[in-house]
Amino acid sequence: MNRRLIEKADRLIAKEKGTVFKDPGGRINIVLVYPNIYPIGMSSLGFQGIYGLLNSHNDVVCERAFLPEPGDIEEFERTGTELFSLESKRPLSRFDIIAFSVSFENDYPNILKILKMSGISPRSSERGLFHPLVIMGGVCAFYNPEPLSEFMDMFFVGEAEEMLLEFLSVYRDSGTRETLLENSLRIEGIYIPSYYSVEYDDAGRIYNRKARDNAPEIIRKRTFMDVTKSSLKTAIITPEAEFSDMYLLEAMRGCVWSCRFCVAGRIYKPPRRKDFNLLKKEIKEALTKTRRVGLIGPSLSDYPRIGEVLSMEGVDFSITSLRASPGSGRIVQLLKGHRSISIAPEAGTERLRSVINKNITDTDIMETAKLILGSGVATLRLYFMIGLPSETRADVNEIINMVGRIREDNRKGFITLSVSTFVPKPFTPFQWHPMESMKEVRERLKIIKKGLSRLRGVKVFHDVPKYAYMQGLFALGDRRTGKMIEKAAFEGGLKWGRKSMDTGRDLSVSGKKEITEALPWDFIDVGVSRDELWKEYLSAMSI
Ligand code: SF4
Repeated sequence: MNRRLIEKADRLIAKEKGTVFKDPGGRINIVLVYPNIYPIGMSSLGFQGIYGLLNSHNDVVCERAFLPEPGDIEEFERTGTELFSLESKRPLSRFDIIAFSVSFENDYPNILKILKMSGISPRSSERGLFHPLVIMGGVCAFYNPEPLSEFMDMFFVGEAEEMLLEFLSVYRDSGTRETLLENSLRIEGIYIPSYYSVEYDDAGRIYNRKARDNAPEIIRKRTFMDVTKSSLKTAIITPEAEFSDMYLLEAMRGCVWSCRFCVAGRIYKPPRRKDFNLLKKEIKEALTKTRRVGLIGPSLSDYPRIGEVLSMEGVDFSITSLRASPGSGRIVQLLKGHRSISIAPEAGTERLRSVINKNITDTDIMETAKLILGSGVATLRLYFMIGLPSETRADVNEIINMVGRIREDNRKGFITLSVSTFVPKPFTPFQWHPMESMKEVRERLKIIKKGLSRLRGVKVFHDVPKYAYMQGLFALGDRRTGKMIEKAAFEGGLKWGRKSMDTGRDLSVSGKKEITEALPWDFIDVGVSRDELWKEYLSAMSI
């Protein structure tokens, strides 16, 4: 094994608090993999929580692995070193189970790279019984696992807490791989893609999907109803995480709002809140390790006693973003010493915000911005999306005007815009809607950057439209998308993306779909009615 790579792993471990080391002998050996680099993976509450949950079982040892930094990937390749786990430095191929935790579609090519770096064929059909079982959980598995179906042995469709325990019990009782797969079919939410075949018509649309051997035709997403009983929390604190030395704690799961572009707002229904007293107790426990506490939840302004939580002494809180509303004043006061506070207007006009069901007014945004910058917070961060359904250049120009008005009203502080490209997602009313062309998205970005370039203390950050397009292809793809993921992983760059457009294989993102068309994720039941989504889509498009 390469000494430099081992030493680097040891340096990371040395900075961690909470790492679990167990003797692997006689235990179920699981390596939990985040398909991106260490600082990003270690800032994921889901990844951290599953590590803690698995290691709470005496007969399980769970270690971690990540995508190495680009320079280290070359070193692995140059020295013929197989990717290894951080804790015991064992190659991934020596574990019983490789479990991927996946939150972003753009990480899909990294999954394949990681398997290849581990000397394991990415395609499940090319792996044997003595290879580790390759499984995947995380939010991407909830809403459309199909693009990765050629690579995974099993998906966990749903919130992991109960499912994992049921799976471990089946795993302990199953002697062979075949029995394990057969028995796992009975666990609600487990999807084993090799039990299904899909046929396409001449136009490339799905026309038939068959299940064999009594595999369930519909996979129901599992929901863990009482988040107060959830044990998902930070297991390891490290200064090397993106959220340096921060303890992440879940305050809410699911959102009370239903923005039409947002998949999280749909698939995590119903909204659930952690009991206030328990949350306070967990924050006190966190304080024994660090002062920095990151509260996780989709819209924390709606946590009923958020004011009391944020008033807790001695805690340096971080929250994702604030809803621009008249009730935000108290929260802003409590976050006074913060370097930055974010709000998400998403669109420049009330009309477009109504289309996407983000019902906040221009006044709400202006007043909240004033409160934030007036309270001495150094940076106001504003989230916007472009390429939204029915967006025109007039809507884009209104983003510039809105930021101009905020700047005029508030001389102090910086304003940063984070502009992302709209990507339609499964189980949202916009799942039928095409993505805006990359050319037009680039134009709109140029308009925003030029329009704001003369304003003092205003900076614009944006995503790369090509990557947003890739995200769309992977989010909305079917089994055939696997080939594109392979190309992206092993042929490098994004040439494959342009090529797929040239050959017309981008229909899944640039073509409008009909209500009658079968969608790759139709076999998943997340508790959202397709008819309701369609009605909502039509109503949005009539605004
Ligand atoms: S965008 Fe935010 S507020 Fe809207 S549904 Fe999603 S999580 Fe909730």
